[in-house]
Amino acid sequence: MSDTNPDCIFCRIANHEVPAEVVYEDDLVVGFKDAHPVAPIHVLIVPRKHIPTLNDVYADDNIVSHMAFAARKIAEDLGVADTGYRFSMNVNRGGGQIVFHLHAHLMAGKNLVTLVIRLAVITSIMWGKLVKLLRKK
Ligand code: AMP
Ligand code: ZN
Repeated sequence: MSDTNPDCIFCRIANHEVPAEVVYEDDLVVGFKDAHPVAPIHVLIVPRKHIPTLNDVYADDNIVSHMAFAARKIAEDLGVADTGYRFSMNVNRGGGQIVFHLHAHLMAGKNLVTLVIRLAVITSIMWGKLVKLLRKK
């Protein structure tokens, strides 16, 4: 298998043929901001080599551990290594994978939608308690 696929968007980003907000690069991987972030910090870490999914990684390949290493470096640079972040991979269609070039999502910070939903849940719980309290009186 060739190392890059000319039809693959992430190969083209890794080769600087398509623009992206690159935040990290080394010999093996590239980290860039997700075009449709679902968290205040949302970075994708991709190998330079075209590997379609996690199922195509072999036991003797250290690429996934290197992606995790890069995620930790990026998290440190962005100041969220200690406060915390998510590192996740979607595998195949059933796992939510849309782009078939191996990638990890690094996400940190609260999404506004999540905050609004939490606020709504807390408000409804408090409201329920208040109504119960008033009924007792
Ligand atoms: P997944 O569902 O794990 O395959 O995620 C693919 C991710 O790639 C999505 O979060 C997209 O927003 C992101 N994405 C797709 N095209 C680009 C692009 N050209 N630049 C940056 N992120 C992209
Ligand atoms: Zn690719």
